[in-house]
Amino acid sequence: LVSRELQAHDSIISIGGVKVGGGSFTVIAGPCSVESEPQLFGVSEMIKAQGVPLLRGGAFKPRTSPYSFQGLGIEGLALLKAAREKFNLPVVSEIIDPNDAELMHDYIDCYQIGARNMQNFRLLEAVGKQTDKAVLLKRGMSATIEELLLAAEYIINAGNPNVILCERGIRTFETATRNTLDLNAVAYLKEKSHLPVFVDPSHGTGVKSLINPLSRAAVAVGADGIIVESHLNPKEALSDGHQALTAEDFATLMADIKPFISAA
Ligand code: PEP
Ligand code: MN
Repeated sequence: LVSRELQAHDSIISIGGVKVGGGSFTVIAGPCSVESEPQLFGVSEMIKAQGVPLLRGGAFKPRTSPYSFQGLGIEGLALLKAAREKFNLPVVSEIIDPNDAELMHDYIDCYQIGARNMQNFRLLEAVGKQTDKAVLLKRGMSATIEELLLAAEYIINAGNPNVILCERGIRTFETATRNTLDLNAVAYLKEKSHLPVFVDPSHGTGVKSLINPLSRAAVAVGADGIIVESHLNPKEALSDGHQALTAEDFATLMADIKPFISAA
């Protein structure tokens, strides 16, 4: 179902009315985690002013350590919904429990399946069966491209065709960066599948200064968009502050990718 042999033209998928795929390039931005109203509204206002059409933010956080901030849960969802309404920014947020699909439906516009859950088949079936909202499916950190495509197949086969693939870096022998952003995968996926393909240079590199060049690389390799973490005060962030772009970094990023986007 994901193959270009079955469907030659690009799928265009709506996230709360914002169309992604089909030759456009879309930026999704926002904090790793929703932390408070001032934090979320501040960053929403900043990205909106930069022309970003979609907000990201985690309410349920899949953390490596049980002692790390786990997210605000339903309170975080309520803040996301409030930001959506205040700034007219449709929202992307991660689901980690199949039982939350219905609960989240009212609060968000796109379900993110995180790298750690790419092969959580019950979760894939839940977003396939229980919603027709968009699903941003991230590649597992040790998943092959074939496994990513089969995970997408689960969602579509369960009834929801609105899947967006996302390359977010994989684990390799390299330790200089958090992950190795596999741009091969982006070009390969664009060739083999009609689904939109996004790049996450924040988790892909884990290094703030590399987000800008890898975002430009994402445009060049034919990605349909990027998802980028941003925080007005990264030092105070409750997760992933080290890779969060400040307002200033973010303005530079948008200015730097703009010519690439219009040339693509
Ligand atoms: C995230 O986007 O906040 C996240 C946890 O990403 P990943 O699942 O790619 O690690
Ligand atoms: Mn993060």
